[in-house]
Amino acid sequence: MPIATVDPATGETLRTFDALDDGDVERRIAAAAAAFTHHRLTPFEERAALLERAADLLDEDRDTIARTMTTEMGKPVTAARAEAAKCAKAMRWYAQHAAGLLADEHPDGADVHDSGATRAVVRYRPLGVVLAVMPWNFPLWQVVRFAAPALMAGNTGLLKHASNVPQTALYLEDLFRRAGYPQGCFQTLLIGSGAVEGVLRDPRVAAATLTGSEPAGRAVAAVAGDVIKKTVLELGGSDPFVVMPSADLDRAVATAVTARVQNNGQSCIAAKRFIVHEDVHDAFRDRFAAAMRELTVGDPKDEATDVGPLATEQGRADLEELVDDAVGRGADAVCGGRRPPGLDRGWYYEPTVLTGITRDMRIHHEEAFGPVATLYRVADAQEAVAAANDTPFGLSSNAWTRDRAEQELFARDIEAGGVFFNGMTASHPALPFGGVKRSGYGRELSGHGIREFCNVTTLWHG
Ligand code: NAP
Repeated sequence: MPIATVDPATGETLRTFDALDDGDVERRIAAAAAAFTHHRLTPFEERAALLERAADLLDEDRDTIARTMTTEMGKPVTAARAEAAKCAKAMRWYAQHAAGLLADEHPDGADVHDSGATRAVVRYRPLGVVLAVMPWNFPLWQVVRFAAPALMAGNTGLLKHASNVPQTALYLEDLFRRAGYPQGCFQTLLIGSGAVEGVLRDPRVAAATLTGSEPAGRAVAAVAGDVIKKTVLELGGSDPFVVMPSADLDRAVATAVTARVQNNGQSCIAAKRFIVHEDVHDAFRDRFAAAMRELTVGDPKDEATDVGPLATEQGRADLEELVDDAVGRGADAVCGGRRPPGLDRGWYYEPTVLTGITRDMRIHHEEAFGPVATLYRVADAQEAVAAANDTPFGLSSNAWTRDRAEQELFARDIEAGGVFFNGMTASHPALPFGGVKRSGYGRELSGHGIREFCNVTTLWHG
């Protein structure tokens, strides 16, 4: 894949970039390793001041960086501005909380004495240079949710961003530089995916985090396994959105639409499979489809647009294949199921609701990365759990019910890294984020996220 900005609204290549050569990559790894030797020793207050400054600059830059993101990957500009604001908020959250999250722990006296110690301390020390391999779908947020905790913990970062968002990637390096971070603390590597292995194998790189597809996660984790390096993987998802009879149907329908089409349907935590109790199934289907039809599909730079184009031509082709396969095997497109008439330039796809899904359809098992919802009818809560779990993924889930017993059942049995009741899955700096099954492992955000790239050190005194 060339490293280039290609506008998904027109298909036009606006700028191309040369990949770094081996010498450039070597110099950047060396700078990251050198920066770690002093960044790891800086006090939390100094790190916090740098991150707060980066947050302030990001707030100042919000409109410009939002336009860049929209141009590079097609998200509606209103959503791009909200993403930038969310990043600044997360930076401030970690600036404020990191010292507390990484404070020394003092295990209980009796247990410590039982180990033969007079006292013991658990200390969170940084790991070193962390390589972040990131996707284009939330091109600022995915990076910031890695960088803010990593830098606060005393690590340094190397970013290999997706090849279609190079300007956003370069903006991030520049942002941290302008905020005053010493050279080498955070750098962007403009490299193709084939160059990731060499960076990860470099002994000066301590660990890696990857957000992206399953094949990318598998490739990076295999190399990391070979050289015994820590990884966190945030991969795909096909989150269930369960609606039971006690749900507030108005809110459930409105949220279902947002949860499915946010980011033009290209979010790992988008609700993708709508599993609805038979008592409310038809009402939900009709209202959901009607609301999906009403969405404004068009130029993402237009403030009134709800759904822009898919980020890449290949992404749209993949989505079309999934829908065509399902329809070919008997699924019914209640709405959508085609390219929007009149939008011929750019990689648009109509918001779509499919019913009559069966297990032989690819879309039942694969992630639909675009504005396509699948709808299932179930008879009771147990059947809803079985349907929710009938997927290789386990990122998050949504359950609409006011029944306490049902909530307990879903909390106990849905195989996912989150169960969001009567609302939509969203990430927040204070809450852990991550999945199980083929959605990956490890956690980002909260105390769990910042500790992923720490050396949890036992200090034992005899
Ligand atoms: P992708 O193709 O896997 O790309 C993600 C990143 O990995 C890019 O930087 C890409 O570089 C790199 N990459 C691809 N193949 C690689 C390989 N073999 N070795 C090393 N690096 C490799 O994913 P995408 O299509 O951009 O993003 C969509 C996927 O990400 C979806 O499955 C989505 O669910 C998932 N996602 C997950 C989360 C989460 O938090 N769980 C969040 C967002 C997205 P190039 O661009 O140069 O190929």
